[in-house]
Amino acid sequence: MLGLMQNQPLLISTLITFAERNHGDGEIVSRRVEGDIHRYTYRDLARRARQLANVLDGMGLQFSDRVASLAWNGYRHMEMYFGVSGSGRVLHTVNPRLHPDQIAWIVNHAEDQVLCFDMTFLPIVQAVHAKCPTVKKWVALCDADRLPADSGIPGLTSYEDWIGGAPGEYDWPTFDENSASSMCYTSGTTGNPKAALYSHRSTTLHAYAAALPDVMCLSARDSVLPVVPMFHVNAWGIPYSAALTGCKVVFPGPALDGKSVYELIEAEGVTFAAGVPTVWQMLLNHVQAAGLKFSTLGRTVIGGSACPPAMITAFQDGYGVSVLHAWGMTEMSPLGTLCTLKNKHLRMGRDEQMHILQKQGRAIYGVEMKIVGADGKEQPWDGKAYGDLLVRGPWILERYYKGESPLVKDEHGVGWFPTGDVATIDADGYMQITDRSKDVIKSGGEWISSIDIENIAMAHPAVAMAACVGMPHPKWDERPIVVVARRPGAEVTREELLAFYEGKTAKWQIPDDVVFVDAIPLGATGKMLKTRLREQLAGYKLPGL
Ligand code: ADP
Repeated sequence: MLGLMQNQPLLISTLITFAERNHGDGEIVSRRVEGDIHRYTYRDLARRARQLANVLDGMGLQFSDRVASLAWNGYRHMEMYFGVSGSGRVLHTVNPRLHPDQIAWIVNHAEDQVLCFDMTFLPIVQAVHAKCPTVKKWVALCDADRLPADSGIPGLTSYEDWIGGAPGEYDWPTFDENSASSMCYTSGTTGNPKAALYSHRSTTLHAYAAALPDVMCLSARDSVLPVVPMFHVNAWGIPYSAALTGCKVVFPGPALDGKSVYELIEAEGVTFAAGVPTVWQMLLNHVQAAGLKFSTLGRTVIGGSACPPAMITAFQDGYGVSVLHAWGMTEMSPLGTLCTLKNKHLRMGRDEQMHILQKQGRAIYGVEMKIVGADGKEQPWDGKAYGDLLVRGPWILERYYKGESPLVKDEHGVGWFPTGDVATIDADGYMQITDRSKDVIKSGGEWISSIDIENIAMAHPAVAMAACVGMPHPKWDERPIVVVARRPGAEVTREELLAFYEGKTAKWQIPDDVVFVDAIPLGATGKMLKTRLREQLAGYKLPGL
């Protein structure tokens, strides 16, 4: 017997329709590429998303055709999130930090028909447009009077001209909730990038989950700053969860330096912000150096790479801002786990709580996890046994766009997505990443977690960033070294830093050497790029070899 409830598809258009109806005057504030601050409301956003949908219909774009963006976090980008997907097309958010050759490759692979870009990225578009034959229309996300006279890009139109004349009325189509809604290519540090193709259903379910109290805890009372880019995994789903809750949204545009982010937080009463550790480090440096405080910011989600415990304490103890450590992947829409305490932890002392809060956290309902050994056997949830982390759920990838299914089958024939991460899970379900499997350091048959080694170095006041890599060793297989970028003006010697490890980790896990560099190479999503670091270290020899 089937239930007798209404069967309405979960469609992205319903999110913006809901926001317009229930939070019509809810504010959306954006720092624009032009440098000024733009403000409007969900009502304006919904109308302009409908104008955009009309324009796409007018171009004859078919259901599931791809429309690309090359853009910062801003209101026009958010209009694309709803106008493109809501009208049945697929929004392809392109990461502008990728190499132009890679951008051309993914635009061709996705067969994008339209590409809308912020003027910051005009040079990229000038470099790639001739190599992208599928793109019929290039649109600059700017006012008409900002369009350069001689861009060299055929038919270039400003977004305002493009949608300006279109009607603001539009009937959002109804279709299968499993239809594709948006796509994002993984950073592809090795080989060609692969795309995750999200659906209306997966996106809507993820938006619900992301708003939960033990996840981002979003409400109509929040003012939310997604610093995490809209060009990478839909800014962790925040634009959708925002429409679902009616929170105020504050977009930082291109200005991601500590000063600009801080000013926006204060000016717009931001209560909640989300970003990767490297960006939050810039914010912390700024507030620390200038002796500032946050007057409204209460919590921040930090994820995308391991958040050093020193950063969690700095926010919490120095500024009263709770850090929620999160873990996820492009292939997971991206949220998998988030770290918040349980009721029974509230009576614990600060140190014990910190011990928990530095983990990557508990699975969100909708994400099943397990860890397996090399033999594929499931490992116990005891906080000690580690294994390859596998996940499954309705917002986790089944197969890559035009590609293979990476899923591995268990003994019951059930498919799991292999995350490529190595982790432990404790009896309370808290997962902790040891490493990416390719970064784990194997020393004398034992594993050393590069994240643990980095976290210790990052707790040293002179260290701005630290990366631990394994170096070949004839006896031990590999030994860890730590590559360190010092804070400007700060001093620490190799010997001092090695001594700093004493008592903080087992002796055999202490790095064999410290290599000082000006900067650690970062990838397209702000993560440390260990592949490039290893290239830079070519020819390096461990001391004594
Ligand atoms: P890409 O794989 O393209 O670099 P993703 O954003 O999908 O981009 O990266 C996902 C990976 O990032 C995870 O598999 C994990 O290794 C790492 N990661 C994400 N969040 C965390 C975290 N909180 N702690 C440690 N590693 C993390």
